[in-house]
Amino acid sequence: MNAANFEGKVVVVTGGASGIGAAICEVFQEAGAKVWCADLELADGKGWESRVCDVSDETQVTAFFEEVFAEEGRLDVVVNNAGIQPLGVSIAETTPELMNKTLEVNVSGALWGVKQAAARMTAGGSVVNLASFVGTLGVPDGMAYAVSKAGVAHLTKCAALELAGKGIRVNAVAPGTIRTPAVEGIPDNPEIPFVEGRTPLGRLGEPEEVARVVLFLASEAASYITGAIVPVDGGISAGWERYE
Ligand code: NAD
Repeated sequence: MNAANFEGKVVVVTGGASGIGAAICEVFQEAGAKVWCADLELADGKGWESRVCDVSDETQVTAFFEEVFAEEGRLDVVVNNAGIQPLGVSIAETTPELMNKTLEVNVSGALWGVKQAAARMTAGGSVVNLASFVGTLGVPDGMAYAVSKAGVAHLTKCAALELAGKGIRVNAVAPGTIRTPAVEGIPDNPEIPFVEGRTPLGRLGEPEEVARVVLFLASEAASYITGAIVPVDGGISAGWERYE
């Protein structure tokens, strides 16, 4: 049996128009799945179905999943990847608007995806959420983001418990710093050499390296894993210093 064969399976990926989400769409498509992407932007020309949908708005999320279900008649995997990453924002600069928006997109957005999975999936279904290493480790000038990702990790555990009886697994990946437009788009981003210097593996991660773990967690190969937060971070969460 090829545990990572998704032929005939229907997979929803939020935030699939860019970065890690696009890599996730790609690995599932290569594994034979029918992939549907929900994003603020259309993921044009990439071979999977794409719709504009703001994950922080439950009405839009419900309408999106209704369309997927009406078209496909099944739902096998939901990857809650859409997120915003407000970093470089001090406590003094953190406004109610920023805090609320970050929680609405990153935490509530994942919750609405989990809610749809709970309503529409049958036994064997699987949810994978995108947490972050800063959801476990603290980070200066990124409190709203870090708190939101701690929320995603905790939401994952609560959902895993609630849905286990239905045979639906819920896990998360917690990436370190990954080479995506959000990270590389900042000219001379000081975070890049800083992270390279501190990460035990000595480099940033690539989107495909996260996507492959998402695929594994969603697959039959991970059939006894639920409620797990899996680090994909080059070892940065293992300790406090990089050794040569
Ligand atoms: P990205 O900015 O490249 O892509 C995020 C995608 O989400 C974009 O296509 C964006 O349009 C979409 N999106 C944003 N708000 C949305 C909304 N309200 N509704 C629907 N779609 C929305 O980001 P990325 O770096 O690929 O990150 C993907 C996920 O991984 C995020 O949840 C992020 O927090 C997490 N993550 C990223 C890193 C990293 O280093 N890049 C590290 C840890 C965790």
